Amino acid sequence: FLSIYLTKNQSIRLPGSYSSYSKMASHIVGYPRMGPKRELKFALESFWDGKSSAEDLQNVAADLRSSIWKQMADAGIKYIPSNTFAFYDQVLDTTAMLGAVPARYNWNGGEIGFDIYFSMARGNASVPAMEMTKWFDTNYHYIVPELGPEVKFSYASHKAVTEYKEAKALGVDTVPVLVGPVSYLLLSKPAKGVDKSFSLISLVDKILPIYKEVVAELKAAGASWIQFDEPTLVKDLDSAQLRAFTKAYSDLESSLSGLNVLIETYFADVPAEAFKVLTALKGVTAFGFDLVRGSKTLELIKSGIPSGKYLFAGLVVSTSCSLLHTAVDLVNETKLDKEIKSWLAFAAQKVVEVNSLAKALSGHKDEDFFSANAAAQASRKSSPRVTNEAVQKAALALKGSDHRRVTNVSARLDAQQKKLNLPILPTTTIGSFPQTVELRRVRREYKAKRISEEEYVKAIKEEINKVVKLQEELDIDVLVHGEPERNDMVEYFGEQLSGFAFTANGWVQSYGSRCVKPPIIYGDVSRPKPMTVFWSSTAQSMTKRPMKGMLTGPVTILNWSFVRNDQPRFETCYQIALAIKDEVEDLEKAGITVIQIDEAALREGLPLRKSEHAFYLDWAVHSFRITNCGVENTTQIHTHMCYSNFNDIIHSIINMDADVITIENSRSDEKLLSVFREGVKYGAGIGPGVYDIHSPRIPSTEEIADRINKMLAVLETNILWVNPDCGLKTRKYAEVKPALQNMVAAAKLLRTQL
Ligand code: GLN
Ligand code: ZN
Repeated sequence: FLSIYLTKNQSIRLPGSYSSYSKMASHIVGYPRMGPKRELKFALESFWDGKSSAEDLQNVAADLRSSIWKQMADAGIKYIPSNTFAFYDQVLDTTAMLGAVPARYNWNGGEIGFDIYFSMARGNASVPAMEMTKWFDTNYHYIVPELGPEVKFSYASHKAVTEYKEAKALGVDTVPVLVGPVSYLLLSKPAKGVDKSFSLISLVDKILPIYKEVVAELKAAGASWIQFDEPTLVKDLDSAQLRAFTKAYSDLESSLSGLNVLIETYFADVPAEAFKVLTALKGVTAFGFDLVRGSKTLELIKSGIPSGKYLFAGLVVSTSCSLLHTAVDLVNETKLDKEIKSWLAFAAQKVVEVNSLAKALSGHKDEDFFSANAAAQASRKSSPRVTNEAVQKAALALKGSDHRRVTNVSARLDAQQKKLNLPILPTTTIGSFPQTVELRRVRREYKAKRISEEEYVKAIKEEINKVVKLQEELDIDVLVHGEPERNDMVEYFGEQLSGFAFTANGWVQSYGSRCVKPPIIYGDVSRPKPMTVFWSSTAQSMTKRPMKGMLTGPVTILNWSFVRNDQPRFETCYQIALAIKDEVEDLEKAGITVIQIDEAALREGLPLRKSEHAFYLDWAVHSFRITNCGVENTTQIHTHMCYSNFNDIIHSIINMDADVITIENSRSDEKLLSVFREGVKYGAGIGPGVYDIHSPRIPSTEEIADRINKMLAVLETNILWVNPDCGLKTRKYAEVKPALQNMVAAAKLLRTQL
């Protein structure tokens, strides 16, 4: 998590002996907002529910900010960020700063308050929210600005300045952080009704005057540093986009004079072209690079500080990106195994580590701290809990070889159909059924050991039976057990695999007040015993219809966990694949003939740079195939994905070689179908969701039939499956029953017409 800054007027000496650096300073790019116990989440939700006042919310936020600043100051951090707090999202904060409120929110100008801010974030009774999308390759989601030629920008949120002053009043001089003007525009989208070809970057002239006002106020308030986050510099940018950086910062140059200006990049290497542009920017005095995920940038730094720029560089030790993307504080993990705990650092610990490194590099090494760290590292390296020779060997043997089923998909489907005897347009669901309050209570009680295993098993069996009976009544063809025993599709497997640890408070913000608690993969992964066979065979024993075994795929387990950093990701993925392979084969032995292996997050792991896509897709798809390469032709392998944006990865999806793919579709069918026209040649079953499970609305039979008809215009009858978009976990039975009823009715109606 270290990066370095090149700052003017100090001499450059890259990694060498410690003594070379007489004054190494420390810096933190950004910090989690939620609080060590998710205080902000609870304050936000209580405010949204009308249970507490705006003032209450402001107070919680101010307390969090002040404790973070104090903590960093106490740790000795020299460059402490401000304005990295947000009530919802830092990009939305920038939209507020620029007054770029879409017209539908009826904003009347003036300073933007909670009303307009949260309406943009979450919608209100009459207007939907703005779109949200993933922040680079993290699991954080930002609110996408909607811009066009008509937008009238104005300085409408003074938050950056207020926060700077707030910290200063507490005695902490901070580095105010702003989303940089060019990244802001590159991360936005044309507003509704604006021509898709509209050049968003052309708006730079209109937003810079506001940035100048902010900078002027910050200067007046006493700021000596400012940080612009320009992470889009790590993406594949074209020359027009790169020129926008040059133009923007030349334009800002005079406003910035007298300030130290840091441009922060993160998440990957800055490509050579962008590096040239970046290091030549006017008015900029410091650059932040991610040297953890961007290993090539170091080479550029060594060779490429532009001549004529007289850039004598000094170094600052910093985090590679904002700590927003990690858990908050390890001290709250009282139940975590002591040894495993000693191998981990959350945000609060990283702050201390960064500063200790900076001190050590300036010749003031805290020997105790470093020797404790070295001991922890050594214990990790030699721990039998981390290393499992057998797993290492098995995973190593997979590299370089190929694994796929010997028979091609059409022949397999024929063999499966003989056994399954399904009608055309077979109906199924994606796995989970509604999780009632009662069900969640049973799981919680069992976990807390307040009810016996016997009672628990009985309750879950009853739930499965209910779900099976319901599906039979609805006359669905391929059934599911409903996943009542699972709280989360990754956690459920992680808890049963070795090599995984779980935290009590290791929350990371996903969007707004929502957080996720990823499992921590610390060691070699193996499966001590079957994980789902009992539940799946119990469910199968309740019906004559095929019951789908339901597993989470290796790539999804990997992408939704904190992954160990002492071996390449693909090695960890191969290990998980081998564990899932064992499970697949045990399910098959237990008589389960249809097995779904969900890869909901396959696309999420796609690297930011196109040049790295092929490598990732290769091992990711290989991992999936490893899980099921050994099954009989008659065993039908399904996979499921929660998105339909396959344009760039369709060949990899086909290369997964599944028998049936179910995918999200209801939000964008046109695009998807054109993509799948290509996939048709492949011949596997395809189940593009016929209705949207994210909405409580119940689709009519006609509507679903119409949708299936549209698909039939492109896909052959014998490969089309009929299913919802995704799992039904978050819906209510009152919605699910009629929706599935209409779905089955639509399939039956069309069967009579074909
Ligand atoms: N089988 C899972 C479910 O139905 C799939 C969830 C997902 O794709 N996100 O809940
Ligand atoms: Zn899904």
